[in-house]
Amino acid sequence: MTLTQAGTRGFRAYTAKHLDELLQRAGYDTETRLRIRAVASVLPFRTNGYVVDELIDWSDIPGDPIYRLVFPQEDMLPESDVSSIAALLRSDAPAAEIQAAANKVRMTLNPHPAGQMELNMPRVGTEPMPGVQHKYPETVLFFPKQGQTCHAYCTYCFRWAQFVGEPDLKMASDDVQGLVRYLREHPRVTSVLITGGDPMIMSAPVLRRYVEPLLALDQLESIRIGTKSLAYWPGRFVTDPDAADVLRLFSTVVESGKNLAFMAHFSHPREMEPELVQTAVRAIRDTGAVIRTQAPLIRTINDRPEVWERMWRAQLALGMVPYYMFVERDTGPQDYFAVPLARAYEIYRDAYARVSGLCRTVRGPSMSATPGKVCVDGVAEVAGRRVFVLHLIQARDPSLVGRPFFAEYDPSAVWLDDLRPAFADRFPFETGASDAARPPVTPGGPPGRP
Ligand SMILES: *Cc1c(COP(=O)(O)O)cnc(C)c1O
Ligand code: SF4
Repeated sequence: MTLTQAGTRGFRAYTAKHLDELLQRAGYDTETRLRIRAVASVLPFRTNGYVVDELIDWSDIPGDPIYRLVFPQEDMLPESDVSSIAALLRSDAPAAEIQAAANKVRMTLNPHPAGQMELNMPRVGTEPMPGVQHKYPETVLFFPKQGQTCHAYCTYCFRWAQFVGEPDLKMASDDVQGLVRYLREHPRVTSVLITGGDPMIMSAPVLRRYVEPLLALDQLESIRIGTKSLAYWPGRFVTDPDAADVLRLFSTVVESGKNLAFMAHFSHPREMEPELVQTAVRAIRDTGAVIRTQAPLIRTINDRPEVWERMWRAQLALGMVPYYMFVERDTGPQDYFAVPLARAYEIYRDAYARVSGLCRTVRGPSMSATPGKVCVDGVAEVAGRRVFVLHLIQARDPSLVGRPFFAEYDPSAVWLDDLRPAFADRFPFETGASDAARPPVTPGGPPGRP
């Protein structure tokens, strides 16, 4: 299928029910296919014709980074879980039995990391607002109901729980008027980040219903759209029937005097190579929107400095602004994808050292953890001790932002929980034992107070 055909024929989605056929085409034997399907019964699988035909190099699987980005691997989950679900699949067990086994494994995978459900959901009076997260005073995240899927799913996705159809695990809203009311009650909020899933899965008229009501709010400086559409479905901005309508909406935001920040998720430089992506980037930039880029650092996909160097350079050349390098979160198959913090820092630094200052807008490696975004600034010898130097880029408690702190060096640490404070008995964001029972403070005041 050629690029133009992919665009004019529309969106061809592959889901779990096509997985066996795709794996067969790729030449996998029956047993391996069963094991990969076992993983896909736990973690969501979805891809599309563009990713399969234009991005994946099928002569290089399973090493191909884009293949690894969307196709589950048989060793991504504990071997005993994979074997027992593969056995159910082999014996054609009833769907409900497979579902139950898959759910059991899911619950061991920390579906909602960093207190997303309990700590970040704001309340109006005593009513929680599902589909809204407010962690840092100036930014509210909104999860539009129709945007809770993606053009393809990343195997490392930390939002995977959104996609597996467990209503208890979902957060989504279609109450844009409720969002507007909440924002009016919280005048410190200057930025709304529309996220998912991928909001660019929504048609232009639906997206417009969410975006336009926000334009009347003077307090908002920026509206962000978090999306991987440029990597997974660039035709969204070029060949889709409503591409022009989407671009007009972006122009409307810019003309209203607000920054439309298009937060593009790119995992690998390969994703920027197709002509169609470059055309899409130009079209988006022509609306006055600013494209910023971010991605997590993932073992076996982008865990070499050369990859990040190429990625940031390609982004700069196309007029995009590198923004964040994240550490893979402690959820889903984290054991499989984790890169130790010490190594993550080296990869970041080695790539950073080789790019122009114009690319050094990027920050990281950053952990989106419960207290905030924790950046690993480096490894140093202080008073004869080897330590990590860290700081909070964002914090639940803004008074902690930008203050350096230390943790004992640990070459195998992969997440904040693995770190122990150095030169102190606790981290700055840790409350004392006597504070532990205090309820979390929601941004803008305690629960029930606007
Ligand atoms: C990253 C993040 C934001 C945005 O932070 P910026 O540093 O402004 O990009 C907002 N809310 C949550 C929950 C986040 O994780
Ligand atoms: S595009 Fe983002 S939300 Fe969608 S699967 Fe990938 S990481 Fe998850």
